[in-house]
Amino acid sequence: MPTSRPGRAPGARGERLAVIDPSTGEAFDEAPDQQPDIVDAAVDRAHKAWRDWRSDATVRSGALHAAADAVEAAGAELAPLLTREQGKPLAESYAEIDRTAARLRYFAELHPGPQPVTDGRPVRSEIRWRPLGPVAAIVPWNFPLQLASAKFAPALAAGNTMILKPSPYTPLATRLLGSVIAAALPADVLTVVTGREPLGACLASHPGIRHVTFTGSVPTGRAVAAGAAPSLARVTLELGGNDAAVLLEDVDVERIADRLFWAAFRNCGQVCMAVKRVYAPARIHSQVVEALAQRAKAAVVGPGLDPDSQLGPVNNAPQLARVERYTAQARADGARAVAGGHRLDRPGYFFAPTILTDVPPHSPVVTEEQFGPVLPVLPYTSLDEAVEAANGTGFGLGGSVWGTDLDRAEAVAGRLECGTAWINHHAELSLAQPFAGTKESGVGVAGGPWGLFGNLSPFVLHRPEET
Ligand code: NAD
Repeated sequence: MPTSRPGRAPGARGERLAVIDPSTGEAFDEAPDQQPDIVDAAVDRAHKAWRDWRSDATVRSGALHAAADAVEAAGAELAPLLTREQGKPLAESYAEIDRTAARLRYFAELHPGPQPVTDGRPVRSEIRWRPLGPVAAIVPWNFPLQLASAKFAPALAAGNTMILKPSPYTPLATRLLGSVIAAALPADVLTVVTGREPLGACLASHPGIRHVTFTGSVPTGRAVAAGAAPSLARVTLELGGNDAAVLLEDVDVERIADRLFWAAFRNCGQVCMAVKRVYAPARIHSQVVEALAQRAKAAVVGPGLDPDSQLGPVNNAPQLARVERYTAQARADGARAVAGGHRLDRPGYFFAPTILTDVPPHSPVVTEEQFGPVLPVLPYTSLDEAVEAANGTGFGLGGSVWGTDLDRAEAVAGRLECGTAWINHHAELSLAQPFAGTKESGVGVAGGPWGLFGNLSPFVLHRPEET
């Protein structure tokens, strides 16, 4: 197998990062492997740029609209590059770009003005929202552009500057996006840095950073929070998930099967809010398994640049090894793969879409986040048991309930311990809604006005009515 971790390009004396196309397993390009000392200079420039950027919301709004236009105009260049390094089908790369432009426009229109506050006394108090300063953003490889935009759109709209670090597996599209956006903004308002660890750790712990906004796994989130503790920078963490879909007795299996399947397998299951476990009433369990297995067998798996592909490869070799490990452990625990269960016999990091049955509830594929194209389907006999199992992990990102009686489904969804619950679909998010995980799935709130306020600090001015 070729390089399993982002490697230094041969002969480049440690200054370039080889970027692998997961559909071939071969390096196809490289990016700067910047060393941690780049962070000092980037933070210094971000501080200087902040002085002007913070001062005029109207100027910021215009610049963010211009940035959105520039992102759309660059779509034909960005999308194939994103697919090449990430693996996803081209249409999904275009969707990421559309979402990025839409998010810039959404936050460009949010300007919190002064807010009066009163507790009845004759004192006029007013909140004036102030930006925090340079923000550090660190994002993973599954939605490089969309997740980056969830960081920079609210932070920049609020009047902060930002240093953004993509995953070393997917640095290229973010670098291009950064240069496209930077051309629409004053210098040093948005800086993209690329490289391997400890670049992210140095950024998160830099004393000049006032907010660290991180998306990634729970263990890295803990390290980021610990790194930011000495500077007491604000920390927002959007972490892993292990979302459950609970099917009710009255569910119309054929009607929902496509939606349920793609809620688990879109982007090859590499979605924080993918359905990662299905709980089906024992009476219809085998029907659900069969419906999902049919779709898994029919899904077209191939390179993202092939227009016929519905599912691309897993993004990187360690992630593929992880998916194989969870599947092998599930089998050792007694599970059966009704569809898939193995790598595809071709170059690249392809894994067949996998439906598992007879999975013991304690198997790690159920209790942990496997983050790949594998879905365990578990039977239940009482609804209380299903809800308890759905809530029974350390995660609390999302969840869904599927059935025909919407009132009953809503009542069950209300019992899920997570940040967002859906009925008869999963992981559809509005730009205007708060996005927050409970338990170990996150700290802080992103999305909508809450995302903007996460990048602002209240400055309260008290003025008496009389001298
Ligand atoms: P990861 O935690 O390994 O890496 C995330 C980012 O952190 C990368 O840019 C990485 O280079 C960087 N990093 C690694 N070590 C670091 C350190 N010590 N200090 C600072 N930065 C460091 O995650 P991943 O494998 O890239 O992504 C998959 C994970 O992301 C899954 O757990 C998934 O659920 C989660 N995720 C969460 C959301 C959400 O919104 N909740 C969205 C997408 C992905």
